Amino acid sequence: MSKHKTKPPAADRKVYVMMAMILLGLLVILVMNHKFGQEAARIGACMTVQRTILAAVTQAQEADPGALDKLSGDDVAKHLIGKGFLRALPSHPGSPKDAASPFKFGSSGIFYCETHGGLQAAQDREP
Ligand SMILES: [Zn+2]
Repeated sequence: MSKHKTKPPAADRKVYVMMAMILLGLLVILVMNHKFGQEAARIGACMTVQRTILAAVTQAQEADPGALDKLSGDDVAKHLIGKGFLRALPSHPGSPKDAASPFKFGSSGIFYCETHGGLQAAQDREP
């Protein structure tokens, strides 16, 4: 057994280091991509829930125009649930069960997610 085989030359070691770095880089890309995919799925789920809530808001406004104008915050949710437009305020997708909901009601039927922004605002921006 020659010494040459047991101890690789410096050039070989550089190749190993580079391969390790490339593998590490690929791993980082895979993990980031996975996280990004999860976040995109969460935003999609959030917008779906927002659509449901906004549909209830629209129904409430049509049934009783102006009723929501003076309400904001939890009072809007109470109104929607109390009048039967919404069975319950849906939980926010991806949020821990005991965490405060990022879903917020403003006045005049404004509704948005503190984490992902509002579907309503996105729609209003469109011409
Ligand atoms: Zn959200």
